[in-house]
Amino acid sequence: MRSMPESDVAAHLAKLVSFPTISASSNLALNAYVENVCAAFGARARTFPNKEGDKANLLLSIGPETPGGVIFSGHSDIVPTEGQAWTGDPWTLREKDGRLIGRGATDMKGFLACCLAALPAITAKPLARPIHLAFSYDEEVGCSGVGSMAEWIGASGLKPRLAIIGEATDMDLVAAHKGGLIGWTTVTGKPGHSSQPDRYVNAVMIAAELIASINQIRQEMRDGPRFEGLDPPYSTIQVNQIAGGLHGNIVAESCRFFWEMRIIPGESDQVVLERMQARARELEPAMKAVDPATGIAIDIQARIPGLRPNDDPAIEKELLSLLGRARSRAVPYGTEAGIFQNAGVPAVVIGPGDIKDAHQPDESIALAALMDCVGFLTRVGETCR
Ligand SMILES: [Zn+2]
Repeated sequence: MRSMPESDVAAHLAKLVSFPTISASSNLALNAYVENVCAAFGARARTFPNKEGDKANLLLSIGPETPGGVIFSGHSDIVPTEGQAWTGDPWTLREKDGRLIGRGATDMKGFLACCLAALPAITAKPLARPIHLAFSYDEEVGCSGVGSMAEWIGASGLKPRLAIIGEATDMDLVAAHKGGLIGWTTVTGKPGHSSQPDRYVNAVMIAAELIASINQIRQEMRDGPRFEGLDPPYSTIQVNQIAGGLHGNIVAESCRFFWEMRIIPGESDQVVLERMQARARELEPAMKAVDPATGIAIDIQARIPGLRPNDDPAIEKELLSLLGRARSRAVPYGTEAGIFQNAGVPAVVIGPGDIKDAHQPDESIALAALMDCVGFLTRVGETCR
């Protein structure tokens, strides 16, 4: 007897949820399961492992080995459950009131399960162009895993015409989001008795200068370029964490602060970073004149490129028609879509579920939302016939 798509998607999701693939853990067992499912549809597997070899991106291509296909992409890593009030085992999928509960149900193993559940219908007739499943690792720690796979596929002879990243959008078409750049700035000063401040270098006071210039940038951003549809429609930058100094009467030896910038599509985070670096270079000579061992270090922690609307409006039109929606929207959170776009593959974000359910205890998704997504992916797949 042929299985129903509902039970397929729930069964795949139950299996995917059972692998505790928090970002710090290996995703290889999950990949083996996915690869095994796809082998039944004649998929060719390529893997892009990390340096340690304990995690990998998985690219599965079904249909002919040609360009012009479509990528369905999502990450298989999830956020931890420690400290959250789960009412059941996060790794055992359960159902309540039409919703499936388990870590990753929304973010974003639900979408991965939809991809697997759509394959029987998509491959029911031969494909003229390939469908690729591109499952990444380390998305939740700054989208740092997917790059090797996105760059390979963008530069290969397999270059697809479209990548759909299935982060939760309630099946809306998301055509744009901000990019993000975050990092630590560490000021190393020279400590001494605070009665003689000019003999030493006060790291807290230098940090204050740097933060003042970040605040200046923030004010300029508020009056700068806008991208309507985002809230707020301008870029932002701020410092949300700071630590420094040892005692009220010792010149502070060190101070570090964590900054983040969120840049609207089409604007450059690099320009802002270079401004911060230039301000540091301005302050350093006076510090080093007191002691060459002092200085300012800026360390980037993560960089997520923004997503700008595709140059070709026909892509959006086609997808809106397949979705039965009137218009696209922009979202305030980052995804891997900009990484595919920068690799030369037109990209959008469309996925089941509500992003508010991501990262929550008792994370859940409606089975009906998954079925909508399976239907949409099937229609997209049919365009490859
Ligand atoms: Zn996600």
